[in-house]
Parts: sequence; structure tokens; C-alpha cells
Amino acid sequence: MKYNRCGKSGLLLPAISLGLWQNFGNADQYTNMKQIILGAFDRGVTHFDLANNYGPPAGEAERNFGKILKAELHTYRDELIISSKAGFSMWQGPYGEWGSRKNLIASADQSLKRLGLEYVDIFYSHRPDPETPVEETMQALDTIVRSGKALYAGISNYDAEQTRKAAAVLKQLGTPCLIHQPRYSMLDRWVEQPGDNGKSLLETVDELGIGCIAFSPLAQGRLTDKYINGVPTNSRIGRALSNGAIQAKDLSEEIINKIKKLNDVASGRAQTLAQMAIAWLLKDKRITSVLVGASSINQLQNSLDALQAPAFSSDELLLIESVLN
Ligand code: NDP
Repeated sequence: MKYNRCGKSGLLLPAISLGLWQNFGNADQYTNMKQIILGAFDRGVTHFDLANNYGPPAGEAERNFGKILKAELHTYRDELIISSKAGFSMWQGPYGEWGSRKNLIASADQSLKRLGLEYVDIFYSHRPDPETPVEETMQALDTIVRSGKALYAGISNYDAEQTRKAAAVLKQLGTPCLIHQPRYSMLDRWVEQPGDNGKSLLETVDELGIGCIAFSPLAQGRLTDKYINGVPTNSRIGRALSNGAIQAKDLSEEIINKIKKLNDVASGRAQTLAQMAIAWLLKDKRITSVLVGASSINQLQNSLDALQAPAFSSDELLLIESVLN
């Protein structure tokens, strides 16, 4: 495993981290989850990413991870970076979502109980809240860190301007913003687009010394060869999940055509498309880590081999750009 410095902090993160949004809920096999997590750790994946609402049902991924941690990994706690988040809908009533101090602090306590941990390494505000002052949300993150429930604070899904404001508040409070977690893949490049003040999110985090961990790097499985000849029943689309997972409508003919062409480019590099999609993100030094999901250990092993990839030639990069545009 290669470890990259997270922004201007002291923390190193693996170039590839594992997320537990899907495949770690009630309907999933415990033995499969255990294989994926232990297989990841054996290959140097020290960072596991969770959130209060991962499952389904919400909370179950943290519970399952906590169980595996207790049974198999508790002696390695100091070798692990475990993150959680609050902000999306989690419990009923007015306090179960968004960015209030009430939601973040109650949610952090609930997550620690489910995980069976005294602290998480990173705690995130999962999404910006248009109604709550950013000062309140950031003060809640600061409190969570100062009370020892998290070591570092992060934000997710904030645009460039929101990131600048949040980072300024955190800096003033003395708890720097460690990391930003945005969606980023070959099929979704919003982080590269200029924001209101002309700077993209990637330029902003770089300027502010904040790390960046890209989520859904495989566009939820579309940047693989699995959908080229139809929708397998055991795939994320085939399972028709209702928790924010991609659906059949997200697989247009245009996307399938792109996938086919990208798959040819990957074959020319003696890689799978999944590996090329990961390597393509990691070529940018502003990307600290690529946060993959996996429904089997074989998939994860395949994704981790992206790190063995040769560097992209300028011809390959131009070819990829021509397909994506
Ligand atoms: P990916 O884009 O990596 O998609 C993962 C899915 O792709 C797998 O479940 C599997 O799907 C398929 N897959 C993975 N590897 C391979 C492979 N090598 N070959 C073929 N197919 C493969 O990421 P996710 O969308 O799962 O997101 C990753 C993590 O990012 C989450 O777990 C979470 O931690 C984080 N995240 C954060 C969000 C936020 O708002 N902050 C939102 C969403 C995600 P299949 O089931 O079809 O086999």
C-alpha cells in the first residue's frame, strides 16, 4: 500500500480506502463482510469509512463493522483510521438530520455505541445545511474533537465556497479541517469545475491544505465491465436498492458507449476498467485517497491492484478525455 499525506496534516491515509455504504447491511452475509474487511486490512487498507445512516437499515453498517472489529481487529485499533458522519436523515423528529449541534453531537454518541469505540478517527459533517449557520455546525465538530470523541474533523459534499467558509471557522476554533469527501469519478467531475469565486473544489482544498478523499470512484460500479452486456442480477443496479444506489435509469446508452470505449483503453493498458478509473483519480496529487466500495473480496483485490498500474501516457490521457467529452 502507498500512504499519502492528508493535506497539510500529520495523518497519512492509504491511497485506496474502503467504504461501507453498501454491502454491509442486514441483507448482506456477515462472512462476506468479514472477508472484505480483513482482506482489505491485510493489504494495508488502514482506513474504513462509515456514516450513521449506512446499512440498510441505517446504523447497521456501523453495528456490523463494530462486531468485526471486536472479534477480529480490536488489537489493531491504533493501526486503523475509522470515520463516521452525521447530516443525512437518521432518526425521526426534527433533530435526526442536517447540521445542528444537537444532531451532530447526539449522532456521534450513537455511532460510537454502535461501533463499540471510544472515539472515531475522523468525524464529518456529511452535507452542508442551508438553514443552520456554518458556525454552529463547525462548532459542533470542534466540540466532538475536543471531547475526545473524534481525532479529526472533516466535511463532505460542501462546494468550494462552502468549504472555504467552513474551513475558516474551524481554523478560528483551533480544529483544522483535515479532509473533504466529495463524489468524484471519470463520469462525475464537478470538483474540477470553477465555483463562484472562479476556483474549483480541488483548487480550494489544495490552497487550504485540506486532504481530499474521492467517493464513488467507480461511479457506483458503472466504471467496470459489468454493465457492458446488460445488468447482472447481483449487481448494484440489478438489486434495485432504494438507499441512494444507482438505478437502471442511471445507465443510459450514452454511458454504456463511454464505458465500452473506456474499457478498450483499459485493456490497452493491460488493466481492468475499475483499475484504470482508480488510477486516473490518483494521478492527481490533490487526491489523498480513493474511497472504493466492494461487494466481494475479489472485487476489492482487483481494485487494489490499480496501484500497480503504469503511469498514463499523454496519448492515453488525451484518448480518455476524448471519450469523456
Ligand atoms: P464505488 O464507485 O467504488 O462502487 C462500488 C461498487 O462497484 C461495488 O459495490 C461493486 O458493485 C462495484 N465494484 C467495486 N469494485 C469492483 C471491481 N473491481 N470490479 C467490478 N465491480 C466492482 O463506490 P461506492 O459508491 O460504493 O462508494 C464508496 C464509498 O464512498 C462508500 O462506501 C462510502 O464510504 C463513500 N460514500 C460517501 C458518500 C458521501 O455523501 N460522503 C456518498 C456515497 C458514498 P456491485 O454491487 O455491482 O458488485
